Amino acid sequence: MIVGSGPGGAILAEQLLEKGRRVLILEKGLYVHPDDFSEDEVDMISRLYSDGALQISQSLRFTILQGSAVGGTSVVNNAVCFDTPQRVIDTWNARSSSGKVIDDTAYFDSQQKVRARMRIKKIAEGTRKPLDAVLNHGDSLITSAVKSYFAGREDAYEYDVVEANIVDCLGCGYCNIGCKYGRKLSMLDEVLPAAQHKHGADNMRIISEANVTQLTESSGKITEVHAVVAGGRKLLVRNPKTVVVSGGTIHSSWLLMQSGIGKANKLPIGKGLCFNMGSPLHALFDRKVTAYDGLQIAHYLKVHDHPGFVYETWYNPPVAQALTMPGWLDTHFRNMQNYDRIAAVGVLVGTESNAHIVPALFTGGPDVVFQPTQGDLNKLVDALVILGNIFFTGGALEVYATTRRYQPYVNQSAVLRAQSQVDALRDLVKHDYDILLGTGHPQGGNAIGTSPANSVIGPDFKVFGYSNLYVCDASVFPTSTTVNPQLTVMTLAHYAAQFVQ
Ligand SMILES: Cc1cc2nc3c(=O)[nH]c(=O)nc-3n(C[C@H](O)[C@H](O)[C@H](O)COP(=O)(O)OP(=O)(O)OC[C@H]3O[C@@H](n4cnc5c(N)ncnc54)[C@H](O)[C@@H]3O)c2cc1C
Repeated sequence: MIVGSGPGGAILAEQLLEKGRRVLILEKGLYVHPDDFSEDEVDMISRLYSDGALQISQSLRFTILQGSAVGGTSVVNNAVCFDTPQRVIDTWNARSSSGKVIDDTAYFDSQQKVRARMRIKKIAEGTRKPLDAVLNHGDSLITSAVKSYFAGREDAYEYDVVEANIVDCLGCGYCNIGCKYGRKLSMLDEVLPAAQHKHGADNMRIISEANVTQLTESSGKITEVHAVVAGGRKLLVRNPKTVVVSGGTIHSSWLLMQSGIGKANKLPIGKGLCFNMGSPLHALFDRKVTAYDGLQIAHYLKVHDHPGFVYETWYNPPVAQALTMPGWLDTHFRNMQNYDRIAAVGVLVGTESNAHIVPALFTGGPDVVFQPTQGDLNKLVDALVILGNIFFTGGALEVYATTRRYQPYVNQSAVLRAQSQVDALRDLVKHDYDILLGTGHPQGGNAIGTSPANSVIGPDFKVFGYSNLYVCDASVFPTSTTVNPQLTVMTLAHYAAQFVQ
């Protein structure tokens, strides 16, 4: 039995089926057929996202986006894939004083298999439309800005079209509300139906709108799984042979916490969460950019001297863009009127593992307690400063960060009008309440490791002290990847299949 149908749950299910197991997946989100996806952002967001995309940290300063649907967050993600950096696996292994946490050779072998399975390629390859027509239309401006900024320093950076599990992209720009055209090979479009087709519906059952609320244990074994299904009816699974929790970061930890798992041996469940913390920088140009037209995330940029962050060119349909557009009231209105003359790039900083989960006061659900460290904020500001310089080199008229305080917008000091002003960002952003921060990449909370003192699951993905309980999703990351995490989630799930009994 698997709880959750995102990349962690779905890839593991497929592998277990290949080994002759029968699989039942309970998924709390809706089953929405891709034919029913529409361009109505508000409707799709409310149906496909956890808490209708209003999930926010306890401080109210950090938005945490997650999907909730059959297929998990893969239904709404951008499908961008980065290989797991070797340094990440090294860091995870270095947490152990008694042997490796992850066998690198087997892990990277799984990664190759997942890359082939998910047809992960550069967007350019296999795309029938001309590449320029497919990519985010802000891209050509940003590409020439990056080239000019790094002219003569070609060894200092890596800039390229993203790799993704997208085949023959049409560049509609609606990745984040479900790909209606079947080009994104999400778990909903590809893995779950293919597994069911190959192994038969009797061997692979998925129940949507089934919220697993409690795991009951006896002598270190899960003996009952309780769920509430559509209409409020209760579902009880008795004596499951195996239970894998793949509800994603936050919700997997929350289910374990609610069930009292690991209390006796004080497992650090719901601790050590980390994020790829993001904040965008917007640039206004003197001509139409139409960045909304085309693939939302098209290029990435890594600056070799700064391994703590990554840039991704990025733009959104109007509702999502309005949520991150800088400015308040009339300034926000003015910026939205310039929607077609603005390009944006997102900065992703891999944070330290310093967040944790507590019960929320009023909702009865989980609350995430997180404040970025000063070091993480400094990395973000460094990244924004470099990016501001890149934009001005590329001919931007104005550049703005999504700073939160209203006052700077009254006297317009948050609007940078020349390259010489970019360093002002360092004064504008000193605290987490100074700038809009968020993530679509929450990680951790059920760390993998060799000791129950600092980990929740062992190298075999089994929860310490339990004989039939496993966790397999982004919550098992001990540290953040900095790069987009879904290929790491999928690879871990493929790798985990050898251990799940
Ligand atoms: C807008 C957006 C864009 C993104 N773009 C990218 C990208 O381009 N590249 C990339 O690498 N990553 C991206 N990500 C992140 C990536 O999608 C996630 O890291 C990945 O999906 C995590 O996989 P998972 O299996 O851990 O969890 P999820 O995909 O979140 O799946 C967990 C599933 O479990 C279900 N569930 C939770 N609790 C329960 C319960 N109690 N009972 C039953 N079901 C439950 C949830 O409803 C959900 O469907 C993006 C995320 C967002 C929000």
